[in-house]
Amino acid sequence: LTTAEQNVLDKIETEDVDFLRLQFTDILGTVKNVSVPARQAEKAFTEGIYFDGSSIEGFVRIQESDMRLKPDPETFAILPWRNDENSAAARMICDVYDTTTGEPFEGDPRYVLKRALDRAKEMGYTVNAAPEPEFFLFEEDEDGYATTTTNDAGGYFDLAPKDLASDVRRDIIYGLESMGFEVEASHHEVAEGQHEINFEYDDALTTADNVATFRTVVRAIAAQHDYHATFMPKPIPKINGSGMHTHLSLFTEGGENAFHDGDDEFDLSETAHSFLAGILEHAPAITAVSNPTVNSYKRLVPGYEAPVYVAWSDRNRSALIRKPAARTSAASRVEARFPDPSCNPYLAFAALIHAGLDGIENDLDCPDPVRENIYEFDEQKREEYGIETLPSNLGGAVDALEADDVIYDALGDHVAPKFVEAKNQEFEEYLIDVSQWELDRYLETF
Ligand code: GLN
Ligand code: MG
Ligand code: MG
Ligand code: MG
Repeated sequence: LTTAEQNVLDKIETEDVDFLRLQFTDILGTVKNVSVPARQAEKAFTEGIYFDGSSIEGFVRIQESDMRLKPDPETFAILPWRNDENSAAARMICDVYDTTTGEPFEGDPRYVLKRALDRAKEMGYTVNAAPEPEFFLFEEDEDGYATTTTNDAGGYFDLAPKDLASDVRRDIIYGLESMGFEVEASHHEVAEGQHEINFEYDDALTTADNVATFRTVVRAIAAQHDYHATFMPKPIPKINGSGMHTHLSLFTEGGENAFHDGDDEFDLSETAHSFLAGILEHAPAITAVSNPTVNSYKRLVPGYEAPVYVAWSDRNRSALIRKPAARTSAASRVEARFPDPSCNPYLAFAALIHAGLDGIENDLDCPDPVRENIYEFDEQKREEYGIETLPSNLGGAVDALEADDVIYDALGDHVAPKFVEAKNQEFEEYLIDVSQWELDRYLETF
């Protein structure tokens, strides 16, 4: 066993851990767990834990369904909502292996991201990422089902002396910190019932692991307070939706920020400009991955601080990519504002990173930033500025993905076709459904 693995065994002893949840995600980003008694930890490290992958979304065909999970000891964390005095549960995030070949399984989203990071490494870079996931807290009904009544709606502030939501948020933050998160900031967002918790940047793999964990922790702790936390991008029409702005930068092996150039007007290096250009170039295809639900496209509309147009800015928040002000050279970075928290973070980061690296490899020219509010541009002005529009629905985004080799290849031969198939099916189901809006609008009119 490695030292890290031995440390995990020691902690299992001292913290009275009974159960281990071995965590991984399917291609849709749903967190899956295989629960094993903690005494199997050593075996999990040496041999891996076998499971049947045939029931996991997008994993394998039935006849070749045996998969092996190998836990990453660096990701060991006690689950704060399952921690009693003398019994606890812990989780570790796993890599998935193919039992027949013994190789990493190509359908494992974590592996897809690792491939993107390998490409960066070959080019001499490590990738840092920091997300800003937003979410809503909704009340539950008498039977415990989620409603869309926000927890601070209806003049709540007038009636109660303290912000109940901040209690929930505080417990969420304690929970995250106990699992090793460094929470940087948290605040009530623009919309009623909407919150945001930012965590400290880390390497992109750790950050993707953190996002997957984050969603689980937020939902579990909200539930303890009888709230339903949702990462659905646009649960309520006509108010802000929930995004997951993603900050990215590349560092050199020497630990320098490759995005920083103090002489540049925007404090961004040539490398950063090309990376940014790569994301702009591939944005329509990336949206299929970073905004992967039908509902995602209800958020990407003008007027609610979410991007609609393919442009970057050092000022305004209607752009797809923003260059945030940086206090130190290490903080120079770009902020992709289009991803939303319904994405699979491993796949979304992989798509963004491959797009950016492609921009660097092809020395793409970066357009000028747009400093005006693009929401207010008419079509003619957008054409004049050469500003494209993001796909307006999931179907369009999937078409763009299929037409873009860079992003399709970013997902790889296993994940890409399965992802396209699943998303086309989702979109078709949506198209044939009859919504409440249609009933309200037409039922009595015609
Ligand atoms: N909620 C907005 C979005 O959908 C972002 C608001 C903000 O963080 N300024 O992206
Ligand atoms: Mg923010
Ligand atoms: Mg925000
Ligand atoms: Mg932001």
